Order: sequence, then structure tokens, then C-alpha cells
Amino acid sequence: MLPRQATRQITVGDDRVGRVRIGGGLPDRAGRPTTPAPVSVQTMTAGYTHDVEACVTEINRLAAAGADIVRVAVPEKKDTDALREILPRVQVPIVADVHFHFQRALEAVDAGVHKIRLNPGNISDRAQVVDVIQACKARGLPIRIGVNEGSIIERRDKQKRMKELGQVFSDHKHGYLLAIMITKLEEYLDIFYEQDFHDIAISAKSMDAALVVDAYTEIAKRFNHPLHLGVTHAGPKETGAIRSVAALGGLLINGIGDTIRISYASDPVYEVEDGLELLYCLGLRERKGVDLIACPTCGRIQVDLFTLVQDVRKQLAQQVTVPLKVAVMGCIVNGPGEAEGADVAVFAGDRRGIIYVQGERVANVPEPEILDRLLAECLAFQDRVLRGEAKLGEKKVAIIPPDPIGELGSGVDKIARGQVESRAPLTIGRS
Ligand code: SF4
Repeated sequence: MLPRQATRQITVGDDRVGRVRIGGGLPDRAGRPTTPAPVSVQTMTAGYTHDVEACVTEINRLAAAGADIVRVAVPEKKDTDALREILPRVQVPIVADVHFHFQRALEAVDAGVHKIRLNPGNISDRAQVVDVIQACKARGLPIRIGVNEGSIIERRDKQKRMKELGQVFSDHKHGYLLAIMITKLEEYLDIFYEQDFHDIAISAKSMDAALVVDAYTEIAKRFNHPLHLGVTHAGPKETGAIRSVAALGGLLINGIGDTIRISYASDPVYEVEDGLELLYCLGLRERKGVDLIACPTCGRIQVDLFTLVQDVRKQLAQQVTVPLKVAVMGCIVNGPGEAEGADVAVFAGDRRGIIYVQGERVANVPEPEILDRLLAECLAFQDRVLRGEAKLGEKKVAIIPPDPIGELGSGVDKIARGQVESRAPLTIGRS
């Protein structure tokens, strides 16, 4: 497990939806020790909150995908009114996202929301921010303070501190922005501390992955509140995934970050799936469901592996609940080494697939039967695991091919020589 930076701990949720802890490692206000909670995954609904049926459906979809916490926007009173109907119908803690209108925060608290996301910089009257803090304090609700790049604004009375920090960060590519972020955060936190309010999470998002890394790194040095990591406006999933993983992965590897939101201009289910996968890959969460590895294919491939991998992924995602490691490999030349540690593995070649379960060869089937047989073997092994008759990861795939060109390899030549039945034109790779 990667080491985690100690922070205060906050809790989001209640008896009915469950409590999600964020951060930890420092003593709580009563001096009791806390241990860092697993890094949680958040997302945000994409639809209108006032459309109650659609919002409930979306929240439940996101929770089913694995979201620990779901945020909803509440720009209008009809949205906070809708929360009263939405909250009893969902099973996951809900955060109200408030911008500009402090009344929305007060209404959301009254409706029973579990956390408020607030950017004090876009609520002009400090007394209004204090009203929100007091309302949350009375209900024991945490608040996330955002100093995202796009929403921090300059204030004349903070010019001196910014200048000082600007000098601290003068060698830094993002020095000026970092100085503003830190200055704003100090300013906002003072408002909360004056109210003796400490159930705070902090976010400092940007669309610039390098700035995100720098901003959170500097904030983690200066403050001990749990950090909500994210890259804002990351773009479509195809490019946003890289942008997000570059920033969040770098921070998490260094122990920074207690809850994450990956944001895409796409279905937020992808945000949840990719957020979880990032945490699984870093060993920061215990994997639920299949761990699929597959080769990228190369000139040795003799089956339509890309289609097979996608079919396996979709089917196993629905049916496997234990962290079963499955390898789908294009051939036996490099496959065994690369599939080492897999519980179930298939090695393809000559339009056939040889299937292994924890090192034991169980089948050699033609290409059209690979998918069904592989799924059957995965489910049968899962049953054995659930009955306590087998253990995940107990035995490694251990195959030493006697002749890579023999039983499986070099199928194109064999097909050409008529030594292997060729049922259809060979489709390889990205068809
Ligand atoms: S497993 Fe075989 S087909 Fe796949 S990339 Fe490696 S050598 Fe190529």
C-alpha cells in the first residue's frame, strides 16, 4: 500500500446511506486517533437536479457503478426543493454544489444533504458564508472549499501576501497562480476557523495537469485538511483520461489525495469506472470484480483478439464479483510470461485458444468457442473461490511452450499450407 499523508478526517453521510470517511491519520478534535480512510471516488450528475425522476435514476446508476459520493448542482430553488424528494430515494451520500447563491446552500442543508461544496470567492458577502458555515456546523455537515483556477479572484487587500508568495514561487512555472490559490485558501480558511469550523475538504483544480500537481503539493505542505483531487474541464474521456491520470496518479503516488473526481465531457459512469481503476492500479482500493490483462497484439496474432477482449470485458464485468485476474493473450510466445499471476488465461493462435486455470490446462478450443469457454471457466473458478475451494492468485500460470511454432504459433503459414482449417478471412487487429 502506498503511504498516505496524514490529514484531519471528515465524514460524509448518515445512518441510512452509510458514512464515507475522507482522509485521516491525525487525531480528531477529541484527540482520538484516526486512520486514513480508503481513497473515495466521487462524481457529479450531468442532468438537471429538478428533474427528480431523471436525477434519482442517474444517482442510482452512478452508485451502482461504484461511486462513493455523488454531487448535484443546485443553481435554482427548484433544485434544492427537488432534493427533498431525491434524498430519500438514493443510497449514497449527496453533496450540493453551490455557486453564487448562499441561499441554495442553506436550502440544501435544510433538505438533508450530506455535504456542501462552496467556493467562498463567488459569494460576495462574508456574512452569507458565515450563515452557511453555521448551518453546516449545526447539522454536523462538512464543507468542501474550492479554489479552482477558473474561480479564484483577486482581492486588493491580499496583494501583499500574494507578492510574498509570488517570491516564494518565483522559480516556478505556475508561481503566480499558485500564489493566488494559496492566498485565497488562507483567506477562506480564516473565515471557517473564526467560526471554529474544521470539517473541511479542499480542492484546487485546473485543466493544466502540471498545475494541479503543483497546487495540491503546495497545499498539502501547508494545510492538514483532506484533499479532493480533480482536473477540471478535462475534456472528453479519450483525452481527459490521460490528463486526469497524469495529475491524480502523480499526486496519489506521493501520498497526496483523499477523495478523487475524474471529470469527463461524457457519461459520468466513465468517471466512476476510471477513478476506481486508477485506485485499483495503485493498490489504494481493494479491487471489486475482474482484473483483466490483455496483450496489445502484434504480427504473431492469429485470432481477432481485440473483439475477444472487449467481449470478455463486458461479460465478466457483469458476472464476476471477486477480484479474478484474467489474461487474454494473443499467442504463446510471450503470453505466459506476461500473463504470470493470472487465475484464468487464454493463449490464442492458429484460430484456437488454449485455456489455463491457475496453471492447469483445461481446454483447447477453436476461435468461435473461446469466449464462451473462457467465461464458463471464469465463472466456475469464481464459484470455487466463493465456496472456499480455491484461492485467488494461489497458483501462477506456468507454461513452457515446447515449440512456439508448433501447437499454436505461426498460424498464417499453417493456414496457407492447409494445415489449419480457415473458416473465414482472418481479421486481425483494428478492423
Ligand atoms: S502475446 Fe503474442 S501476439 Fe500478443 S503482443 Fe505478445 S507476442 Fe504479440
